[in-house]
Amino acid sequence: KDNGKNTWAHYDANRNTAAAMVARMTWSSRIAQALERGLLELHFQGIYHTRDGSLSHLESLVRMRDPMDEGRLVMPNQFIPVAEKTGQILEIDRWVIQRSIERLAAHPKLSALSVNISARSLDDATLPQFIDDELRRQKVEPKRFIIELTETAAVVEMQDAQRFIEALQHTGCLICLDDFGSGFSTFAYLKYLNIQILKIDGMFIRDLPNNRDNQAFVKAMIDVARGLDKVTVAEFVEDGDTLKMLREFGVDMAQGYHLDRPSAEHPSLGTL
Ligand code: C2E
Ligand code: MG
Ligand code: MG
Ligand code: MG
Repeated sequence: KDNGKNTWAHYDANRNTAAAMVARMTWSSRIAQALERGLLELHFQGIYHTRDGSLSHLESLVRMRDPMDEGRLVMPNQFIPVAEKTGQILEIDRWVIQRSIERLAAHPKLSALSVNISARSLDDATLPQFIDDELRRQKVEPKRFIIELTETAAVVEMQDAQRFIEALQHTGCLICLDDFGSGFSTFAYLKYLNIQILKIDGMFIRDLPNNRDNQAFVKAMIDVARGLDKVTVAEFVEDGDTLKMLREFGVDMAQGYHLDRPSAEHPSLGTL
């Protein structure tokens, strides 16, 4: 009986793996086609000063036109996790970096642009050099380029992150810790890595005016950020009351649907 049970468990596990593999193959071939046929695109969302509501800079957010259904815009949470498993994320991240630096070159009035880098790209030893080369080639001032790193991918080795960030720092671009507070290594990141901007995770911002726990968390994060001389950003700002509270708490910048939504043509700059 024990054997039978084990056999079934084993069989189920194999079947699930096979099903997951088929799903991954489908998506990975779509991603491969999208990369080949130029079906990735960037949308931009504003990050605003809480003090006066003026635009600070923009964040690049990648989207993919589904090659099997060309009108359909595929959001990153549908294809980034697959691309991270297959390794295609390295090519996607490079594409986003290159395009974003191009945008900075084309829009000298845009103060800065931030991009998201997957934890997997921290293993890409030649990426800092690639960024440096692109910045030079396009004659973009490095401090206009911000790299957002997320700590949620717990698999990242601190040493990898540290090595990557040190190499990046030589290029002169800025580093933002994205989804701050959502992972387990928040304090380790702050202690060992040279980061200038902390973006408080949206889970602490939603429903802020009615959620005393979130108010306590946000205040604590601002306290840490102040003590360490970091700039703070809050994401997922969806209403005016939340924005007002963030301003009172002393959060420097805000991003979210209350301010604008990601779009291919950002209203404050016209067509990017
Ligand atoms: P993230 O970097 O934390 O980006 C914020 C996400 O929240 C974006 O979703 C944005 O559209 C969404 N958002 C912004 N304001 C609000 C709001 O007020 N309410 C709500 N409910 N959502 C809001 P998006 O574009 O779907 O991106 C999801 C995640 O995918 C990003 O999270 C980032 O981790 C990843 N991602 C996006 N672009 C790239 C990329 O070029 N490379 C890599 N490696 N990852 C990317
Ligand atoms: Mg981000
Ligand atoms: Mg974020
Ligand atoms: Mg987030």
